[in-house]
Amino acid sequence: MYKIDPEYIAFLESWHQIMYILAGLSLAMSLGIFFYHKIKVAAIKTYKGKYDYILMHQVRAYQYVVYAFAAALFFYGNTIGDAFIVKSIVYVFVRAFISLCVATLVAYVSYLILKFYYPGVMDKQLRKLRYAPRISSAGNEMRLLSEEEEDVHLDAGMQAEENVFSVDYDVWVDEKTGEVKIEKYAGYLEALECGSCGFKTLTLQSEEIVKPATEKEEGELIRHYKCKYCGAERHTKYPIARIIKSESEYKLPDDYVLKGQRKVKSIMIEIISTKGDKKEYFFQNTKQASEFLAQFDFDKDA
Ligand SMILES: [Zn+2]
Repeated sequence: MYKIDPEYIAFLESWHQIMYILAGLSLAMSLGIFFYHKIKVAAIKTYKGKYDYILMHQVRAYQYVVYAFAAALFFYGNTIGDAFIVKSIVYVFVRAFISLCVATLVAYVSYLILKFYYPGVMDKQLRKLRYAPRISSAGNEMRLLSEEEEDVHLDAGMQAEENVFSVDYDVWVDEKTGEVKIEKYAGYLEALECGSCGFKTLTLQSEEIVKPATEKEEGELIRHYKCKYCGAERHTKYPIARIIKSESEYKLPDDYVLKGQRKVKSIMIEIISTKGDKKEYFFQNTKQASEFLAQFDFDKDA
């Protein structure tokens, strides 16, 4: 039989108290961040506003929610298993270590879920917000124009942005009053903002390797950009660590005649990388889909 040191018991009691308080605070913080985010979204009046806010902040907010929850688990873990703990102070460290492992595992798994699985879920939420019927200032339900119809409402710069897939404009029309609402969304491909005209139409034309990279040394490359709208050019130097060339080529079958078929709602292109990453892209016609594929570069965009 061993005798339990009363000082050790007193230490354990205050230790547990501190851990309970910290666990409670972490849990409160986790819930607090979650509801703060929900309230923020709910307080935004327009669908477009909600869309932008969710796109910008939701994943990060949920990351903090799970990290705070993992911290709560860690602190709570440091209070369980009294039967062992009273035997020796060593168990306090063992318990702390096990709690840390469990909390880290929970945080890491949630991180992976948020990074790889969750964006697909959020995409559905975003798509709902994007395509929910808008209401005009006269109170009428507006209609979203198709890609073919919307061009008359977009200026040449906006159309150029759509043609390089850097920006996607949604045009909503109130057919009774003629009110038009134009909403701007990020396109599927990256294009830089042109310094001359300000549209996102600056696309990469060619790359020139000035100095090839070796195993020991960085190389150098110049990228030539050209604005698809105003024609301005830009040349920028970049260091190259290693050159990896993509050999894959994507092409749509030519005998797919969907364009102009009103019953076809959208065409989906799913691109899966060798690493298993998946991306889905939606288009209204094959012409758009083909043009997208012609400009798609996996190393840059996926
Ligand atoms: Zn320009």
